[in-house]
This record gives sequence, C-alpha cells and structure tokens, in this order.
Amino acid sequence: MKLNGYTGDDLYKKPRLEMVETQLVKRGITDARVLEAMRLVPRHLFVEEAMRSTAYEDFPLPIGEKQTISQPYMVALMCERLGMKGDEKILEIGTGSGYETSVLGLLAGRVYSVERIAPLLFKARKVIESLGLHNVALKVGDGTIGWSDFAPFDAIIVSAGGPDVPAPLVEQLADGGRMIIPVGGETGQALRTVVKDANGVKSIEDTPCTFVKLVGRYGWGENGAN
Ligand code: SAH
Repeated sequence: MKLNGYTGDDLYKKPRLEMVETQLVKRGITDARVLEAMRLVPRHLFVEEAMRSTAYEDFPLPIGEKQTISQPYMVALMCERLGMKGDEKILEIGTGSGYETSVLGLLAGRVYSVERIAPLLFKARKVIESLGLHNVALKVGDGTIGWSDFAPFDAIIVSAGGPDVPAPLVEQLADGGRMIIPVGGETGQALRTVVKDANGVKSIEDTPCTFVKLVGRYGWGENGAN
C-alpha cells in the first residue's frame, strides 16, 4: 500500500502513528489494511493550515461551509465494517475534506465520491490529486440519489446522517454488497449496516454517532424540514 505522491515523512508522522495506536488499535480496530491506510494518509493536509496541529486529535474538526472532517475512529470503524479486500468498487456520499475518500482510495479498487457543496469538493480534489491517488472519481451533486452510471457498488459509505436509508442507494448496492450509514435524528444517529444478498436486504444498527446532516432528495430538506 502506498501513496505515489507522498513520502509520509512529515512533521506529523509521530502524531499520526500515535493516533492509530491510541485511538484505533486500543479501541478495537483490527483490520490491518485500515490501520496501514490511516498510518499513511496525511490527515493534516485536509484541514486549514491554522488547525494542522490538532488534525490528529480524537474529534471531528470544522472544514468550512458548516461541515466537519470526521473523527479518525469513526472513519476507521466505517471502513473496517465494509470489510474491503482491495478490488472493490465503492460509492462514498459526502466527500467533505476528502480525507476518508483518500483512505478508501488505498483500501479499494475504485472510489466514486459525491459531495453537494462544490467548494469543498474542489478543495478535496486538489489534495487527493497531490497524493497521487488516481483511482478516485469525484462529482458535485445530491448523493442520496447515488451515482447510477457506475452502479452496482460492492460497498457504499455515507458520511452524513439521514432520517432513513435512501432507497436509490439500496438499489445501487451489488448483491453481496454492504452499506454503512448513520441513521436517526438531526442531532444524533446510530450506525446502520445494510447487507444485500439473494435473500433480500438486512440491517443492523448499533454504535451511536453524531454526523452532519445528509441533505437531499432522500435525506433532510434544505431548510431542516424533511
Ligand atoms: N468523510 C468526510 C465527512 C465530511 S462531513 C470527511 O472526513 O471530511 C459530510 C459531508 O457530507 C459534508 O461535506 C456535506 O456537505 C456532505 N453531504 C451532505 N448531504 C449530502 C448529499 N445529499 N450528497 C452529497 N454530499 C452530502
């Protein structure tokens, strides 16, 4: 596993390796590929320069446009749940800073990521390209309708919380595929894992979490109304 555009030797290498040990390994993340990817991706490049020194701390951080870069543990947990081996085609909803997108780029064969706020997507694209990740496709749009041109997807990861699972995403999930999505109210959700196979669609919900709102046709309304 390697980032072609990045050596990994930077000022933040030590806090990055510590983050993986104290926030991920100690809390039970065991997927070796997820841990390796998160040791490699320079999280500090996905936040404003003034916030770089806190980029490896145990919380989400603002990235502008009232959005946040997810907490490292949440990124690791969601990626681990998808159980990727390396050749999967993934759909991500909510590119945000592009941090999780880059982690997914190392873990999967191909990543399609949709973000509704254009300036965030443009910033994310710059960083992702600078890292030399060429298996990532990005677009501006409403991710609750999925990205049908490239469906079906082996896995779908939604990094914003909605009132329910958007039906188009279930449709665009491959047979044998799985989706992870925070579902619940506007201020708190639970992580839901949706599995699709020949027998139908099953879901389980566990870990409580707090994500920004999934806003769109099959999410929350633009002004907070559903
Ligand atoms: N994983 C990202 C998380 C960003 S926060 C990171 O670590 O940086 C969630 C993002 O989802 C926000 O940028 C928000 O604008 C975006 N979002 C919300 N609803 C969306 C929708 N319907 N389609 C695409 N993106 C959406």
